[in-house]
Amino acid sequence: MKKSFRYVIVGGGLAGASAIKGIRGRDKDGGILLMGAESERPYDRPPLTKKLWSGKKKVEDIFLHGPGYYDENGVDLRLGKRAVKLDTGAKTVADETGAEFGYEKLLIATGGVPRKLDIPGGDLDGVIYYRYLGDYTRLREKAAKGASAIVIGGGFIGSEIAASLNMNGVDVTMVFPSPYICNKVFPEGLGRALQADFGKRGIKVFASETPASFSKLGGKLAIRTTGEIVFEADAVIVGAGIVPATELARGAGLKVEDGITVDEFMRTSEPDIYAAGDVANFPYKDLGKRTRVEHWDNALSQGALAGANMAGGAEPYRHMPYFFSDLFDFGYEAVGEVSSSLETFADWQEENVKGVVYYLREGRVRGVMLCNVWEKVDEARELIRKGERLTRSDLKGRIG
Ligand SMILES: Cc1cc2nc3c(=O)[nH]c(=O)nc-3n(C[C@H](O)[C@H](O)[C@H](O)COP(=O)(O)OP(=O)(O)OC[C@H]3O[C@@H](n4cnc5c(N)ncnc54)[C@H](O)[C@@H]3O)c2cc1C
Repeated sequence: MKKSFRYVIVGGGLAGASAIKGIRGRDKDGGILLMGAESERPYDRPPLTKKLWSGKKKVEDIFLHGPGYYDENGVDLRLGKRAVKLDTGAKTVADETGAEFGYEKLLIATGGVPRKLDIPGGDLDGVIYYRYLGDYTRLREKAAKGASAIVIGGGFIGSEIAASLNMNGVDVTMVFPSPYICNKVFPEGLGRALQADFGKRGIKVFASETPASFSKLGGKLAIRTTGEIVFEADAVIVGAGIVPATELARGAGLKVEDGITVDEFMRTSEPDIYAAGDVANFPYKDLGKRTRVEHWDNALSQGALAGANMAGGAEPYRHMPYFFSDLFDFGYEAVGEVSSSLETFADWQEENVKGVVYYLREGRVRGVMLCNVWEKVDEARELIRKGERLTRSDLKGRIG
C-alpha cells in the first residue's frame, strides 16, 4: 500500500537535511519522508578530505544530526535505497525496491555524482572516485604510513586529499591535465606557488599529464598517461569533478539544463517540486546569471530555504554563498565568481600566504578570495554587491 507524506525529500545530503529545519520552521507537524541512496544518515562531506585526516574529527563527529533528531522532528528516514521514478501526475515517487510514496511537496536534493574517467580501466575495482564516506573508509584501509597513492585531478578534491595523505605519511603522486593545481580558481602565481610548496613537502606533481589507462599490477594499480609515463601505487583516487544527479528529474520531464532548473524560490518547472544544493541551477541575483554552485554553504542555505518555501514561505534566494578550503597551512574562504578566467588583483600582506585576491570584470569586483584572512566574508559580499568600478589602488588594503 502506498504511504503518503506532506513532504518528501529525495537526497540525504546537506541540502536534503537542511530542508527539514526549513520545513519545521513553518510547519510543526506535516509528515516528512527523507529518501537517501547512501546507507548512512546525512553527514558532512568537507571532513572527508580534511579533518578526518588531520585528526580534528572522527567519523562519528561528521553526522549532521544525532539519530534522535529525525524522530523528534517527525522525519521517516528511508536510507540505502535510491529513488528511481517520479510521477508528477500521480504525485508519487518510487524507490528501487518498488515501494511508492505519495507527496504534496517534493524536494530533489540529489547532489552530484563523481565524473568517471572514460578510459580503459576507468571503472576498475580499486579506483576510488572520491565523494562518499565509504570512499574515505576504503582509502583509510589502504593509506597506512609508507603506502603509496596516486591522486588524479588537481582541483579541490584532488589537492585536498593529496595534502591530507601526505600529512599522514603516504607517498603521494599527483597527475592531472591542467598546468597547475586549482587552475580554475587560483591566479597562476598563487597556484604555481602552492604547487611548489606541495613539491617541497614531498608530493610528486605531474601537471599537464592526462591519464590514458588504468590497470592492475599484482596488488597495485598502474596508470599510463598520454605522455607514456607509467605510475603504480597502492591506492588510486580520482577527483575529476561531478555531474549533477538529474536522472529522476529528467525522467519525470522537469526542465534540466546543467542541473535542475529552478526559479529564485527554488521551484522547478513542475508545481510542488523544488530542488536545492549541488543539483540546482538557479538565478544568482548578485552575479546576474544562472549557475550551479557545488559548495557547502550553498547546499545548507538553499536546502533550508527550499524547505521553508515548500511549507508555505515565499522567500527568494538572495544569499551569496561562500566556500572554504585548506591546503596544508593555506586556508581560504571565497565568495562570488572566483574564476581565474577573470582579471585578478592580489593584495598580499605576505606573498601567496596571506592576503586578498580580487576577481574583476570591467573594473567591478565579481569575486573575492580571502587567503588566511578571516571573518571578512561579509565585507567581501558588500564589495561585490555594490558593483562599483574600482582601480587597483582603490582595492589595495580595502579588506584585510
Ligand atoms: C570530499 C569533499 C569535500 C568537500 N569540501 C568542501 C569544502 O571544503 N568547502 C565547501 O564549500 N564545499 C565542499 N564540498 C562540497 C559540499 O560538500 C557539497 O557542495 C555538498 O555536499 C552538496 O550537498 P547536496 O546535499 O546538494 O548534495 P550531496 O552532498 O551530493 O548529497 C546528495 C545525496 O543524495 C543522494 N541521492 C542522489 N540521487 C538519489 C536518488 N535518486 N535517491 C535517493 N538519494 C539520492 C546521494 O547519494 C547523496 O547522499 C566538498 C565535497 C566533497 C565530496
